[in-house]
Amino acid sequence: MRIDMLTTFPEMFSTQPPAALGVSIPGRAAAAGLVEIHATDIRAYTTNRHRKTDDRPFGGGPGMVMMCQPLWDAVLAVEAMDPRPTRRILLTPQGRPLTQPLVEELATLPRLLLIAGHYEGIDERVIEALAPQEVSIGDYVLSGGELAAMVLIDAVVRLLPGVLGDQESNLQDSFSQEADGRRLLDCPHYTRPREWMGREVPEILMSGDHGKVAQWRLEQKLARTEARRPDLLGP
Ligand code: SAM
Repeated sequence: MRIDMLTTFPEMFSTQPPAALGVSIPGRAAAAGLVEIHATDIRAYTTNRHRKTDDRPFGGGPGMVMMCQPLWDAVLAVEAMDPRPTRRILLTPQGRPLTQPLVEELATLPRLLLIAGHYEGIDERVIEALAPQEVSIGDYVLSGGELAAMVLIDAVVRLLPGVLGDQESNLQDSFSQEADGRRLLDCPHYTRPREWMGREVPEILMSGDHGKVAQWRLEQKLARTEARRPDLLGP
C-alpha cells in the first residue's frame, strides 16, 4: 500500500526509529516494503512570496484558515506521482468516526491520500472541490490532523497482509469480526509467572484443553462486551 500524507509538518512522518511510524509494527511494515509512506509538505506548493498556507478568516474571528490553492495543487501533484487510484481522506473532527470496519475497508485499498488540517481548519471550497472522505478519530479536538492520521495509519497498516505474524494475529482483537458477524471486546490475557502478588492465572488456561480455553475466551469476550460496551451487542 502507498500512503501519501499532505501536511505542513512532514518531518512527523519519518519511518525511521525512533519516530512513531518507524518503530514496532508500522516501522517493521515500512522496512519490509509492505507500506510506503510519503509525506509531502503543502508549503512546497504555495505560490505566494512568504510561502503562507493560511490566512485570516473572512467574517473575522480568531485563528487562521488553510488556503485553497496550496492544498489543491499539492493533492493534484501528489496524485500524479503514482498511477494507483487514491482514496482521499481528510482528517477532521466533523468526519465519520474511525471504526474497525472502516479501517478494514481502507486496508484493502492500494493507496490512501491523507490530508491534515491545522488552525481553524481548511477553506470549505477546497474541501468541496476535493470531495475527500472525512474521518474523525473521536469527539475531541486536536491541534492538527497529523496525530489523527498516524492513528489511522497504524490501525490500517497492522491489517495489511504479511504485517502481523501468527503470534500477533489481529483476529482475536477487540472489534474484529467473529464467525457469527458480531464484533466483541477482547478477552483478558495472562503470561508468566503463574502467580503474581497473590493473584492466580485462571485455572482453565493451564488445562491444555484448547476447546475449553476457546469457550472460556468467548465467554469472557461476551461478558466484557456486555459490561463495557453493550452497544456492540445491538438491541
Ligand atoms: N475548527 C475545527 C472544528 O471545530 O471542527 C477544528 C480544527 S482543529 C483545531 C485543526 C485540525 O486538526 C483539523 O483541521 C483536523 O485536521 C484536525 N483534527 C482535530 N481534531 C480531530 C479529530 N477528532 N479527528 C481528526 N482530525 C482532527
